[in-house]
Amino acid sequence: MSAKIIDGNAVAEEIKKQVAADAGELAAAGKKPHLTAVQVGENPASKIYTNMQAKACESVGIEYELLNLPAEISQDDLLKKIAELNASPETTGVILQMPLPAQIDARKVQVAISPAKDVEGMHAENMGRLFYGGGIVAPCTPMAAVELLKRTRPDLAGTETVVVGHSEIVGKPIAMILLQSLNESPTVTLCHIATKDLSAHTRRADVLIVATGVSQARWSAYRRRKKVGEDVKPPDLTPLISADMIKPGAIVIDVAINRIPKGFDENGEPVKNDKGKNAMQTVGDVDFEAASQIAGAITPVPGGVGPVTVAMLLANTVACAKATA
Ligand code: NAD
Repeated sequence: MSAKIIDGNAVAEEIKKQVAADAGELAAAGKKPHLTAVQVGENPASKIYTNMQAKACESVGIEYELLNLPAEISQDDLLKKIAELNASPETTGVILQMPLPAQIDARKVQVAISPAKDVEGMHAENMGRLFYGGGIVAPCTPMAAVELLKRTRPDLAGTETVVVGHSEIVGKPIAMILLQSLNESPTVTLCHIATKDLSAHTRRADVLIVATGVSQARWSAYRRRKKVGEDVKPPDLTPLISADMIKPGAIVIDVAINRIPKGFDENGEPVKNDKGKNAMQTVGDVDFEAASQIAGAITPVPGGVGPVTVAMLLANTVACAKATA
């Protein structure tokens, strides 16, 4: 059997079309969605994100503003800035760029953002609403994973749905979103690092959602140890989920993004590309090629959950603007 490949880029485009229409309506009513990104200090990785955010916002008619704050800003001054944005009639959404410098407690700043302008859906109040249902926004990646799933199989009632990974930003909110319906929720099992016999759970899953980043974590740990001069063997970067852990015909949503080497040479060094740098690849937690022969449908990495996550950020931005209009 060859699985249907769930096209995240196509779904993202559909969502963005709707977001653009909603943003246009809001603008016509004099309430243009305006996302302010707060960046503390300079960071090349964040620059990639903010450029991408600016482009994505522009493509759907959301105003985007990048607020660059000095790296040495104090926690109090940063909180004051957030309070100003919360009170601003122009800013309808706020996003805090990570990482933040060591003197800043990221969680304290995150919860200082007004829940009504929390476009990432990470505020404790918005997370709490996930528990009760009826919130305006939810965390973008969990929303993206569930959206791809529902577009693949709208009727989830009665299915065994196994989520691997129980972080606050991915695994737990996915379970909460899936459990919101009174009568139509799947039966959700949440697995994590302390789960005994993971494959016993995954093998009975009609729907398998995986979000661990195990390979990335192993590669990062290996690099840290090498850096301090330890004599370490190359890590085992075999995907966490092999084909034999998947029930035939299952829907597989791979949330993970692992940026890892393509392999290691006989000396245990990462194989090089033609520029002499480590040859890297972006993969998920699932052995995609082999799993595609077993699963009924599967998301690729890249091109699955990632692009839909960006679309969900835009959808949340418009939802916040609507709610504060
Ligand atoms: P995290 O490190 O906070 O959590 C990892 C989770 O994996 C934990 O719940 C842990 O218990 C579980 N885990 C670790 N090893 C395990 C094992 N051997 N067996 C079973 N469970 C195990 O990570 P996170 O922030 O939740 O992110 C998870 C993955 O999702 C990462 O790869 C990350 O890059 C990716 N991610 C993707 C997007 C996107 O837009 N597609 C957004 C956010 C995160």
